[in-house]
Amino acid sequence: MKLSNRINQILGGDTGGGSDGWEVFYRARQMVKDGVDVTELTIGEHDIRTAAPILQHMHAQALGGHTGYAMVPGIAALRDTIAARVQARTGVPTTAANVVVTPGGQAALFAAHTAVCDPGDVALYLDPFYATYPGTIRAASAVPRVIQTRAEDAFQPRATDIAAHADGATSLLINSPNNPTGTVYSRETLEGIAQLCRDKDLWLISDEVYDTQVWEGAHISPRALDQMAERTLVVGSMSKSHAMTGSRCGWVVGPEAAIDAIINLATHTTYGVPGFIQDAAVFAMAQGTAFEDEIAAPFRRRRALAKEVLANQDSVGLIPAQGAMYLMLDVRATGLSGEAFANALLDAHHIAVMPGESFGTAAAGHIRVAMTIEDTRFEAALRTLCTFARGLENTT
Ligand code: PMP
Repeated sequence: MKLSNRINQILGGDTGGGSDGWEVFYRARQMVKDGVDVTELTIGEHDIRTAAPILQHMHAQALGGHTGYAMVPGIAALRDTIAARVQARTGVPTTAANVVVTPGGQAALFAAHTAVCDPGDVALYLDPFYATYPGTIRAASAVPRVIQTRAEDAFQPRATDIAAHADGATSLLINSPNNPTGTVYSRETLEGIAQLCRDKDLWLISDEVYDTQVWEGAHISPRALDQMAERTLVVGSMSKSHAMTGSRCGWVVGPEAAIDAIINLATHTTYGVPGFIQDAAVFAMAQGTAFEDEIAAPFRRRRALAKEVLANQDSVGLIPAQGAMYLMLDVRATGLSGEAFANALLDAHHIAVMPGESFGTAAAGHIRVAMTIEDTRFEAALRTLCTFARGLENTT
């Protein structure tokens, strides 16, 4: 039987390089299966698990009976908590009516695009991009249109580059702090984007799932900029801020009418998020910013370590790494593509990193390093990586 074109076309050829850039990742996984001791710096997942008190609360709430259907928009306590958090962080008046809880940020990205794009509408996104972006846009029946950012700008998008491709578009998806580049968008960048959205009448979908992981500068939510609250949908999540990736708890914050529409979508798709998970999210957020800082601390530490290791050498360049749990490293001095470098590093030293080409074409000649292993091993892996790059440079 034939499957729909809609579902068959979710995966497109969006990435650069000879393969789709994920070959090295699957090779590394296979090596692990075969018993090889691989240092995996690939996936954006904490090396700690969800904190025991959060799980104990989840367990108690489930045993206490919160296992039936939960309110589809999210339980009142969680919507209130998210609204208060967003208002405190951005200054934008926000109530529960501006919040819908979703099964993770990923479902929020899909819901946001579905809410604003009709089938065939053009949805803009920026390269390099988080792997699911173009497929999510297609899953929502919109048409992805990619816009390059530039390594020489440390991947801060230029509003003029976006404007050059924005005609006829409906939405623009941005992500700061950024996966995969570690870039935190400056106020100037965001003001430019906001102006463009107002001029071109675009919806802005702002993926802020890394908003607690900022090492330099400050996280600014574009929803707080002039006249942007009415055209911005913010995607948030417990995954990165509270090390709750497996709990699948995220949200969309936006104008009431859009939130009502997404609640309607949720009624007909996910039917909400389990109540005991939402209880655990309320509990986790009640631990306050000190807890969020604790979750972010290992990445902050490793980023400082990386700066030390990468200083005083020029075989590997560090994109400033202002936020999120990744480093984007420029390996163009070796003469290799990111993909060739990643494959060679895996073969020679059993260190697995993601080629920049797996995130589009703008980060070709780069690699992404996830700072998700224990400090000593992380530092040793970076030192090996630098020595390896220097060796390649001398032979090419
Ligand atoms: N956006 C970005 C940029 C991400 O890196 C991720 C997860 N890696 C997500 C959204 C989705 O996260 P989740 O669904 O776990 O909330």
